[in-house]
Amino acid sequence: MSTTATQRPTCSCGHDRYHHFARPDMRYGVGGWLNFFNGISAQPKEIIFRCGRCGEAFETTRDPAVMRAFRRYPNMDGQP
Ligand SMILES: [Zn+2]
Repeated sequence: MSTTATQRPTCSCGHDRYHHFARPDMRYGVGGWLNFFNGISAQPKEIIFRCGRCGEAFETTRDPAVMRAFRRYPNMDGQP
């Protein structure tokens, strides 16, 4: 039994948000697109992680640290 850190949610096949099967789906609130056009780097409101294999949405996060990381590296592979 592991005593380390926090357990991240996984899909049925066991992929967590850092697996390359995971597809971060950025959700921007109203006005997010306007920021896009104005050149402001929009911070997503939340990210829904979906597995590219089973299609399951296994995690929704609003953690600013996570959102920053995935905004910069949308196809990030491996852990920070
Ligand atoms: Zn899966």
